[in-house]
Amino acid sequence: MNIILLGPPGAGKGTQARRLVEERGMVQLSTGDMLREARTSGSEMGKKVAAVMDAGQLVTDEIVIGLIEEKILEGNSAGYIFDGFPRTLGQADALNALLERNGVKLDTVVEMQVDDSALVARISGRFTCGNCGEVYHDETKPTQADGVCDECGSTDLKRRADDNAESLKTRLMEYYKKTSALVGYYYARGELQSVDGLQGVEEVAADISKALA
Ligand code: ADP
Ligand code: ADP
Ligand code: ZN
Repeated sequence: MNIILLGPPGAGKGTQARRLVEERGMVQLSTGDMLREARTSGSEMGKKVAAVMDAGQLVTDEIVIGLIEEKILEGNSAGYIFDGFPRTLGQADALNALLERNGVKLDTVVEMQVDDSALVARISGRFTCGNCGEVYHDETKPTQADGVCDECGSTDLKRRADDNAESLKTRLMEYYKKTSALVGYYYARGELQSVDGLQGVEEVAADISKALA
């Protein structure tokens, strides 16, 4: 099974993707995570995208399509979760072509619908474990022990440089200008299903499971 999780920044894509990885052994392909890894590793590409990411703008299609292509060519049988990709019509067309060339079928696109007003609260409270990637929130999902990851015990808990009100404004604008057209795009292809992302994590997960059934 291969799926796309579509939604604005903070909709809960990463949180739900991690659950699907755990429950179904699927492979999460998050272009955001890949780009952040490139920055940490200090690669030329990582240096090139840093300022654009911190400002909340989208990096070029060419870069993210290249990242996804590398992963598809590695092959995997349990299925992919595309998390945060595609984000433009150009990326969506490129993904179709890439999947077709490699004999991979896209099963469904799950749109996670969340009000803009809720996104600010979600983004501003978000922190993640630098070791295992677990996603937390100051109010809705704090760690059990202060400063220690529940999953792996690491104390390397981080906040993203772009998770601030100023960058979020740009990210939302980028979403509406460049990404939201994908809702219509996948609807017209008969591949879209929408879930209410404002519910609790468990309820959203249950609705996604229904969409995948
Ligand atoms: P969020 O979790 O808030 O949706 P991501 O971690 O997916 O954000 O992405 C962080 C940043 O990485 C984006 O603001 C953008 O700069 C860049 N990025 C990630 N995926 C893409 C993509 N598919 N196309 C262009 N830029 C991307
Ligand atoms: P995205 O990958 O779409 O940017 P995340 O999965 O990183 O979103 O979630 C953004 C923030 O919102 C995180 O701090 C996460 O813990 C929190 N969150 C995710 N899903 C929910 C939910 N259903 N209800 C409340 N908070 C949530
Ligand atoms: Zn951890």
